[in-house]
Amino acid sequence: MKTNIQEQMFKELSDKTVFNKAQNYAYGYIDNVFNRNVFPTEEALDNLSNFDEELPTSSAKVEEVLSQLNTYGSPATVSTLGGRYFGFVIGSALPIGLAAKHLATYWDQVPAMHVLSPLGSKLESVVERWLVELFNFPKRTSAGFVSGTSSANLCGLAAARYRILKNQNWDINKQGLFNAPKIRIVTGRQAHSTVLKAIGILGLGHDTIEWVDVDNQGRIKVDALPELDCNTIVILQAGNVNSGAFDDFETICAKAQIAGAWVHIDGAFGLWAGAVKQLKYLTSGIEKANSWAVDGHKTLNTPYDCGIVLCEDSEAMTAALHMTGSYIIESTERDGMFYTPEMSRRARVIELWATLKYLGKNGIDEMILNMHERAKQFANEIRAIQGFKVENEVVFNQVIVRCESDTITEQVLKNVQELRECWAGGSVWFNHKVIRVSICSWATKTADISRSVNSFKKALLISKTNR
Ligand SMILES: *Cc1c(COP(=O)(O)O)cnc(C)c1O
Repeated sequence: MKTNIQEQMFKELSDKTVFNKAQNYAYGYIDNVFNRNVFPTEEALDNLSNFDEELPTSSAKVEEVLSQLNTYGSPATVSTLGGRYFGFVIGSALPIGLAAKHLATYWDQVPAMHVLSPLGSKLESVVERWLVELFNFPKRTSAGFVSGTSSANLCGLAAARYRILKNQNWDINKQGLFNAPKIRIVTGRQAHSTVLKAIGILGLGHDTIEWVDVDNQGRIKVDALPELDCNTIVILQAGNVNSGAFDDFETICAKAQIAGAWVHIDGAFGLWAGAVKQLKYLTSGIEKANSWAVDGHKTLNTPYDCGIVLCEDSEAMTAALHMTGSYIIESTERDGMFYTPEMSRRARVIELWATLKYLGKNGIDEMILNMHERAKQFANEIRAIQGFKVENEVVFNQVIVRCESDTITEQVLKNVQELRECWAGGSVWFNHKVIRVSICSWATKTADISRSVNSFKKALLISKTNR
């Protein structure tokens, strides 16, 4: 590196202008984002063309770079942080989570090994214990801190694959999958696509899947389960991505336990029901599974890029994800990389720890119960409007809305999105076009729901006048 840019950077480091600018831009953002249009305006989207430039030859002024990002980036963000974003299942972020992540940005820790970040290692151990206690999982359960549930599903299923083959004296790491004993996969017809992705990546193949029929909420029909055995991985859901429904863990885990099958739970957003007094019944029996995938960034509202894989068979998980090298320094403390696919990764546990510590058990309970109550409020208010129907039992935070026909539903959805008062996405529910509403933000208030329902009402009116 040429010394002139090095000198320049040391100057930026000491005079703090760029950091202060970023801070002020961020404050401006959070002052506005909870009230502004939920989706970027056409103008903001058009202005993104400002980024269509060649990689510059010479270095730019630090303020210019940041200013460009703020001027054209900020208005083009989707306000997923606010209280009226109901698309997909997208959590907001608590102030403490943003602040802790902000501070940790400057630390730039890599919790791959204890020796690389004793702090990261300590917080991962602490949060592992907190989560195991919170969800009432077996004490021996280990946690890996990954980017999200996609990755957590992959890790949990990798552990399952390792264990099932190991039990038959087949070492997957050494011998690979070719000629390995066959692994069976049993899951419901509405398994999340990231589960299928993991099955594909792990080389198990989608054709292997023995699909089980589901009921009208998307729950596995227990009577339709095939005979399970010790070569089977059963994949269940805590929170159907459309309806929010939960599989019958009590019954299915008991059957699996008798058969010696492995149970993996995709609990991306729904596992958190287990931390809420009034909703705990939904996850009853879930502690009898072998591995669980859950997000911090959805229901718990940590900043994005925060998932956790939990596995009661720590040996299977670490064996599945193990790596070594002459330069690796193993510790008697926690070395995070043995629980994740990555070696280097950011210390996302910092904001997860901060969020859990800030909320405490009561705060978690209160925040998630509010999401549930706002979902019920949405369902009640929308049902009261002629032309809307609610298609699911609102057991958690998801509401499925339908209009009189698929065509109207599609038009209404488009209008809702264009009105930008709130944002919801579409889906297909038992062959019908539907609008999915996911209440997943700490910030959603009663008034946000009424305002959003009003926008739905307006969207329906517009679709009628246009017809
Ligand atoms: C969101 C979601 C996933 C994927 O999680 P990411 O954090 O986006 O990787 C998997 N399963 C379910 C049920 C989900 O809702």
